Amino acid sequence: MSTIWDHEFDTPVFKGKVSFPTGIFINGKFTEGSTGNTIDVINPTNGKVITKIPEATADDVDRAAKAAHKAFDTVWGLKCPGSERGKLLSKLADLLEEKWDEFAAIEALDNGKAFWSAKGDVGISVDTLKYFAGWAGKSHGKVIETTEDKLAYTRHEPIGVCGQIIPWNFPLMMMAWKLGPALATGNTIVIKPSEATPLTALRMASLIKEAGFPDGVVNVVVGYGNTVGAAIAEHMQIEKVAFTGSTLVGRKIMEAAARTNLKNVTLELGGKSPNIIFNDADLGKVVNWSVHGIFFNHGQACCAGSRIYVQSGVYDEFLRRFTARAASLRLGDPFSADSYQGPQVSRIQFDRIMSYINSGKEQGATVHLGGERQGEEGYWIKPTIFTDTKPNMRIVQEEIFGPVGVVIKFEDEADVIRQANDTVYGLAAAVFSQDINRAIETAHKLHAGTAWINCVNQLHPQVPFGGYKQSGIGRELGEYALDSYTNVKAVHVNLGHNL
Ligand code: NAD
Repeated sequence: MSTIWDHEFDTPVFKGKVSFPTGIFINGKFTEGSTGNTIDVINPTNGKVITKIPEATADDVDRAAKAAHKAFDTVWGLKCPGSERGKLLSKLADLLEEKWDEFAAIEALDNGKAFWSAKGDVGISVDTLKYFAGWAGKSHGKVIETTEDKLAYTRHEPIGVCGQIIPWNFPLMMMAWKLGPALATGNTIVIKPSEATPLTALRMASLIKEAGFPDGVVNVVVGYGNTVGAAIAEHMQIEKVAFTGSTLVGRKIMEAAARTNLKNVTLELGGKSPNIIFNDADLGKVVNWSVHGIFFNHGQACCAGSRIYVQSGVYDEFLRRFTARAASLRLGDPFSADSYQGPQVSRIQFDRIMSYINSGKEQGATVHLGGERQGEEGYWIKPTIFTDTKPNMRIVQEEIFGPVGVVIKFEDEADVIRQANDTVYGLAAAVFSQDINRAIETAHKLHAGTAWINCVNQLHPQVPFGGYKQSGIGRELGEYALDSYTNVKAVHVNLGHNL
């Protein structure tokens, strides 16, 4: 038994009916949760309920883990050739591509991001699944030369049942980043979408079935973090957990793994990324990139360029142009073609961001732009720029995860590198300069898993992504992601050596 969600979209950018089951997806079937409780799915533009979906519990995680374990032993893992896994992943990518606009519409409604932006997420998700489909069967070991009387080789074996816990800022894209490498390498999955944005993950569950994945290979459990998320992190049959979200919860996941079966853990956590603009940068281009850096996805991006360091020679001119451009961004209905920014995802996030804005004011920074909500309903916050900050202010040190940037003047290279690295985070950093030697030298000195030169927010399925310091452990995307989902077995064959 499951709940069907029917919805008629009648918007300027997408018209059409969607209808799909929204239960807990275990062993190829949608079911109600073990308690019968439901979660309200909220529309962030107005705070109203879109639909109610069954809430999973720790018991459901246990059922899902058992189904995933059985599938791993019987039909997936080493039982299914890589070529077949690749075909299924390709098929899933094709099905998603066919429903591009439908997925974008569901995401825009549930998350509040603009439809055009959600379309971009669907495109990246398709590309990611296709990229990892190509890897299926191609991650293999090596023969290692030792002595004449010995054959030694390695095998890259799947880990087993993987728990995957994903956030609400890029719900579909985060699901694709997680499913792709795990399935290509032969693992089975228990995935938990965020309770704030579960709809595209549930729609994907139907496509996973339609693509022909064997039952139990992918299981989708929507529930709260402290119940379902914690149960995944603690489950003894789950051998690995991959998490994207806050550093606070990342710590809890490591603690749970340490307390239980020492499961393999990869974490993609927060950031406070510096965006460094030298005097010789091409200001016309820099302004657009910097706006994209902090205001894209309403600032709800782990790699958002939230600390903007500008060299003194161009500081005034940059600030003038950056402010004008930020002020021109249109906040509006996600389904209106000219909206740049929609509402923040939830009441909780709205309150958190507003409290950061208030702390900036209280600690003496200047609100140069915005700093307030828009409208009376929904969770809209105007693009906000702070100046006159001090390095120890919370708005300079902590991840706000909203449309709030700080603009800071610097004098010389050594000074800006010191300030940029003065953070517990190390996810991404950007450098703008027309002197490529200076740009590369600076990029190499920054403590971050990704460094962008003369651009920001560039991600590609082939290029690894992940953090230094408290921004995470391990890498997603690219060939590097395969390492996170395989165990290396060393095999020694005796060819004649006797004791
Ligand atoms: P969160 O870390 O609480 O949630 C992310 C995911 O973890 C969700 O699926 C949630 O249900 C789950 N979760 C929560 N508590 C858990 C627990 N104890 N055990 C296992 N799973 C648990 O993030 P949030 O509260 O939604 O947002 C808070 C902050 O996290 C944001 O302001 C931002 O700083 C950060 N964040 C970062 C990213 C990122 O992409 N790195 C994404 C979302 C949020």
